[in-house]
Amino acid sequence: MGSALVTGAGGQDGYFLGALLSQKGYEVHGLDKPGSENRMEAVDPACRWNVSLFDEEALRDLLRKIQPSEIYHLAAFSFVNTSPEQEREVLKNNLEATHNLISLCKSELPGSRFCLAASAEIFGTPDHSPQSEQSPVQPCNIYGVSKAACHHLVGMYRSLGYFACSAILFNHESSRRGDQFVTQKIVKTAIQIQRGQANELRLGSMDAVRDWGFAGDYMLAMWMMLQNDTAADYVIATGHGHTVRDFAELVFQKLGLNLDDWLVVDPEFVRPAEPFPRVGDASRIRADLGWSSNYDLEAIVDEMLQAALKI
Ligand code: GDP
Repeated sequence: MGSALVTGAGGQDGYFLGALLSQKGYEVHGLDKPGSENRMEAVDPACRWNVSLFDEEALRDLLRKIQPSEIYHLAAFSFVNTSPEQEREVLKNNLEATHNLISLCKSELPGSRFCLAASAEIFGTPDHSPQSEQSPVQPCNIYGVSKAACHHLVGMYRSLGYFACSAILFNHESSRRGDQFVTQKIVKTAIQIQRGQANELRLGSMDAVRDWGFAGDYMLAMWMMLQNDTAADYVIATGHGHTVRDFAELVFQKLGLNLDDWLVVDPEFVRPAEPFPRVGDASRIRADLGWSSNYDLEAIVDEMLQAALKI
């Protein structure tokens, strides 16, 4: 089966992708920041690397040594704060690092295949819904700008003959989702309320719509993209939108609680209204590769609740 390299292997997506690739028989190599070796749970300890994406020599040596036939680039800075210093960090860590990696992969391993984890943030505030591969790329925050640039970079390398694809991932959740994301915040706070350890849930935009899928499903889509005969970009989404309120009501109901007894809408978390819901149209990947999302909202909530209830 050969070997595969996963950057950002210590994160939520790295866990699911590492597990999937191991199960398929790949020798899986994981790369992440120094100090995150212990988080690369799905990667054999002998295959955990903390080579910097900015250290060209070390990265070249690593690629020559492990000879991955597939490279999955998940590593990225994802905060959307806007101080000029943070903007520079996001651009450097996303665009410059992606350029270093893809250019070395093409020159050192021209027969390899590359998949970028792009984001629905590249569509910014869309003027229609759902969004597909044809939707205009018009990001409206610095994270979206950095991902849009990486997405175009992948397209440029593909036009040069390299097998490079961009997976435009809509929101994808799991029990491994970071606590700063609304789904995990709701799940963990609801459990604390049930246990008498918290007495309110403070949220912002309750009517915001998201197309939430399961991270494991989305990593399967990225793998399928690299098994295809031709390289192409795909939207990865469920096609179903739900409001933050829908998600929270389902979680509270499953715990035997009434959301409105505990909810406080806090202006600190409110974001500008989005005229068209952020929902993806994944019909291209369904038609070309036969991929579709296996988890509906309730299955995602169940997976997250089951894991959080064990803590
Ligand atoms: P995002 O889509 O990458 O921004 O993922 P998030 O999980 O951070 O946010 C999803 C949606 O939840 C957005 O529309 C937010 O405006 C909305 N939201 C409502 N209340 C909160 C909150 O307290 N925290 C976060 N992170 N998002 C919230």
